[in-house]
Amino acid sequence: MTGCGESSEDRDHGDASRPSREPRFLVDVMCGTVAKYLRFCGYDAAYALDLGVEADDRIAAIAASEDRTLVTRDRELAERVDGAVLLESRKPTDQLAELAAAGVDLDLADVPTRCGRCNGRLERVSEPTTGESDRPESDRPEYVPSDVVTWQCRNCDQWFWKGSHWRDVRERVRRARRIAAKNGDWSKNGDVTR
Ligand SMILES: [Zn+2]
Repeated sequence: MTGCGESSEDRDHGDASRPSREPRFLVDVMCGTVAKYLRFCGYDAAYALDLGVEADDRIAAIAASEDRTLVTRDRELAERVDGAVLLESRKPTDQLAELAAAGVDLDLADVPTRCGRCNGRLERVSEPTTGESDRPESDRPEYVPSDVVTWQCRNCDQWFWKGSHWRDVRERVRRARRIAAKNGDWSKNGDVTR
């Protein structure tokens, strides 16, 4: 069994030195799920709440100084910040669809690179097909399966593997892209029949 369809050339994926996807994002409060999903898709997505920043001026300043695309539900703020993406929906899947419609390439990388919880870089810990491991087996908590590839966040130590949660995430990303495509067709053709 070769596992996950990875070739030997792919083995470095998940290495923390891998560059992130562009652009980088700053996600405003109230859009936490969007921040998580951007990270799952491999983007560097800072979340205002994690940074302890809520004031519009500070958010605008960080977006500018760190060259981050602002994602916000605040229309006034979006109008003040160049290139900001305004989200109108309250529902995470629809918010993701709005991002896709704004031209953000949403797809789940084959190999996760960013921690959904804290935006830290992920480091591959183990490779089940060879038993190769960069760390002693005793580091692995009991709840982490031993028969799958695992990654760990360099920043918060959270463990990741592709289980049912990963499949749920992938399904929601696909649904969001379908909604975006459908809405795009509506605006192009005026066809609302589906
Ligand atoms: Zn983390």
